This record gives sequence, structure tokens and C-alpha cells, in this order.
Amino acid sequence: MKITWRDSADPAVYEEARVGRLFNHRRPQRFPLAVVKATSEREIVDAVKLAIEKNCRVAVRSGGHALAGWSVRDQSILIELGEYKHLEVDPGSRIARASPSLTGKELNDVLVKEHGMMFPAGHCPEVGLGGFLLQGGNGWNCRNWGWGCERVKAVDVVTATGELLHCNAAQNRDLYWAARGSGPGFPGVVTQFHLELIPYRKLGFRSSGYVYPIRLYREAFDWVLSITPGFDGDTQILAVSYYPEGIDELCFFVSFLAMKHSPEEAEEALRPAQDSRPDGAMTEWFCQEDSLENQYSIEGKLNPEGHRYCSESAYICNDADVPAVLEDACKDLPHKKSYTLWYAVYPSSRRTLPDMAMSMRSDHYFALYAIWEDEKDDLRCQSWVANIIKKVQHHAVGSYLGDADFQVRQTKFWEDANAQRLMEIRREWDPQGTICGYLDKGDRSGAKGLENKHEFKL
Ligand SMILES: Cc1cc2nc3c(=O)[nH]c(=O)nc-3n(C[C@H](O)[C@H](O)[C@H](O)COP(=O)(O)OP(=O)(O)OC[C@H]3O[C@@H](n4cnc5c(N)ncnc54)[C@H](O)[C@@H]3O)c2cc1C
Repeated sequence: MKITWRDSADPAVYEEARVGRLFNHRRPQRFPLAVVKATSEREIVDAVKLAIEKNCRVAVRSGGHALAGWSVRDQSILIELGEYKHLEVDPGSRIARASPSLTGKELNDVLVKEHGMMFPAGHCPEVGLGGFLLQGGNGWNCRNWGWGCERVKAVDVVTATGELLHCNAAQNRDLYWAARGSGPGFPGVVTQFHLELIPYRKLGFRSSGYVYPIRLYREAFDWVLSITPGFDGDTQILAVSYYPEGIDELCFFVSFLAMKHSPEEAEEALRPAQDSRPDGAMTEWFCQEDSLENQYSIEGKLNPEGHRYCSESAYICNDADVPAVLEDACKDLPHKKSYTLWYAVYPSSRRTLPDMAMSMRSDHYFALYAIWEDEKDDLRCQSWVANIIKKVQHHAVGSYLGDADFQVRQTKFWEDANAQRLMEIRREWDPQGTICGYLDKGDRSGAKGLENKHEFKL
């Protein structure tokens, strides 16, 4: 295995190993003792044992998309999984065994083309399976297909003592439970996910889109909220406030993405939106042929590489006046590349969930992504995120781990009982806090984990 030690490597080589694969170009000022490029399960075990021998912590990086830079930690050995790529598909049982650094697009490219199947991984093509699934995973058609982690049937894990374990509903159940929702506090290193796949061969993607000027925000938002509860069960529904390519003004875009077996079924599914839409869209399309590939391309453009990012999210209370709560966030972006996003989670939000750590939800997932290029805008853009969430959080039940920065804000990420059990599992499987875990202010959370409490000070 290739090890880059901070105190002996060429500084440029160390810097590349430390942050070169981070998606967020707002780089953290934290410095691991070494970066280990693991290329096999055996090397992951060896890297954990090396950390134990050196009496330091273990940090992990799969896809490098955690915007708060959770993989970059002081006093740690960073296990970099970027070159550990592995995928086996068993078409008969529809199970894939995938390494954590595979991105959603890499996984689906193979699944769709070679096996006629897909997996509801992250929307953004380059998000790694590792961080995404550990946090729950708001993937394709989450409002109907549920969280990505609900399709994790087993995980292989290197524990904090360097033991390799297979974990599922029958064996090492606590680790299996925690791997579906713990996020970066998982007390081990996942080497492989066993994923249940969705048949894709006959699924066609068709979309309808309605781009409204921001002055019609309230009408457009009220409309999409009113039709969501009865809407088709294979259709993803979202709204984005952003500056579309080629339009030099802020817009509110409402999107319906239907995944159906035939164009006729898709048309029937999308028809209620078309027939009830408010007047005034600047651009619109109805039941247009679409594809996973095209959706990845759209998401890639919305989240450009080489930029500075700051994100937050909130699950808005079901009884809130959602357009009013999100109005400031949607009508005033800090930079033309930034956006705010609402996803319909209903009816998934009302189901009884499987027994797993992931438990926070409401009918409305809201996220804000400040995106900019120049360091001089850091304070302004970060303040915008903080000021918005300061107001919005009073109308929220909690947040999604995937967009969080625990150094800036503490809130609820799980139901209380789930949080309590999760922190107990963390303490039991990693009493010394060998796996870095949750990066809170000062990086102090250790084996204790997070408190799972709203903090309204900010
Ligand atoms: C542009 C963009 C778009 C996004 N879109 C979505 C989306 O559509 N849906 C969604 O749910 N989320 C989305 N996210 C959030 C994303 O899921 C999280 O940032 C996630 O942490 C990224 O996973 P990663 O493996 O790429 O990140 P990393 O930074 O590599 O991992 C994050 C942390 O997870 C832990 N971890 C990762 N791999 C392992 C492992 N093998 N074993 C143990 N611990 C591990 C570590 O603590 C690590 O520091 C998006 C993020 C960005 C930046």
C-alpha cells in the first residue's frame, strides 16, 4: 500500500494526497499524519492496524464529496479509497457488491448498459457510494423508492480493532443497523456494500419541466405542493430556485421525472401537472424523452467542479407554510451559480421505515447550496447560508446529515431513540474513538458522538 507521510513526503505530493480529491475547493486547514492509498480490502485492514500501532485516528475518504471536508483530520491516518474500485453483479439475485469509492454514475453506467438494472444512488454523478449510503442516501425517486440505504442488504466492515466482519440482518446486526444512517460517525470502515438493484431495462425516463420567473414563486410553489400528495408513484418531484443557463434572471423551476415502462404510462402520470400548471412559465416541456445519463449531465452542470461550496438543509415541518418559510432562501441567492432546492418526500415520509439508524424525515426536504469561485466571497456566501438556516430551522424537524457541517451548527439528524442507540453502538464498537467520527467544533466529539439536539443560537 502506498503511504504518504506528512513529515517526509514532498509537500506538493502530500498536499495532493491530503485534499486533491476533495470536491469542495474551500480546503480545510487540517493535516493528517499520513495518507494511505488502499487498493484492496487487505490494505484497508493493514491501514487500520497501522493507525492502531501509531496510536492515531482513522479517517476515511470514498468519493470526497462531504463539503465540510470530514475526511481531512488532524492526528489521523487518512484511508483514501479512490483507487479501490470493485464491482460484482449477480443478475440472478439482483445484488451488486460495490466498493465505497464507486460513484453513482460509475455504478449505474455498468448496471444500465451491461445488466439492464440501476441503483438509486446520489443525483450528482460523482458522489461516492460510501458517504452517500452511510448517511441514508437521497437518491433517484426517493419519494417513492425510499432511501438508498434501504437497499443495502449487507456491508463488509473493518472494525476499529482491524477485524474484517460481514454485517447483515442476521449477523453483526448493530453495525448493519448503524451503516444505514450513521453518516461519518460509523465506527468502522466499510469495504463493500451489498446492494439490491432495480430492474431498469424497460424503464423509460420522461420529464416535464416548468420554468417560472421568480415573481410567480408563490403560485408555482403552491401548485406543486397541492398536486404532490396524489401524484404518480414513479415520479420524482422537485423545485429549484436558480439562474438557468441562457436566462439572465432568477427562476423557479418545477421538475417531474417519471420512470415508467412506456411513453403512454409516462404521459398519463405527468398529465395532472400539465393540466393544472399555472400560466406564465417562461419555458416548459411536457413528457419529453429523458435518461439517467441526461439527468447526470444536468446535475453535473448545476454542481460544477473546481468551485467553493457551503451547504445546509432542513426537513420542513409538514404543517408549515412551506413557500413562506423558504421565500427568502429562494428569492435572494448570493451568487449566480448558487441554488436552493426542495424535494417532495411524500409519500415516503409517511411510511414505517425499516429498523435502521436513518430516521429523520418530513414531507419537505430543503437544501441550499452556495457555490462561488473566489475566496474573497467566502464570508459573504457562508453568512448567507447561516442567515437563511437560522430562520428556516425554527420550522424544521431536523436536517439531512449529507449537507451538514457540525462545526457550524448542531441540530437533529435522527429520531431521539435512534440517535441514542447509534451513539451506544459507536461507543461499544469504538470506545477509544479510533475512527474519527463526527467533526464538531474543535473535533472533540470522539467516541461520544453527537448530541442530536437543535441549537438555535447560530
Ligand atoms: C454536489 C453534491 C451533490 C450531492 N447530491 C446528493 C444527493 O443527490 N443525495 C444525497 O443523499 N446526498 C448528496 N450529496 C451529499 C453527499 O451524499 C455527501 O456529501 C456524502 O458524504 C458524499 O459521499 P462521498 O463518499 O463522496 O464523500 P467523502 O467525503 O469521501 O465521505 C464522507 C465521509 O463519510 C465517511 N465515509 C465515507 N466512506 C466511508 C467508508 N467506506 N467507511 C467508513 N466511513 C466512510 C467518512 O467519515 C467520510 O469522511 C451531494 C453532495 C454534493 C457535494
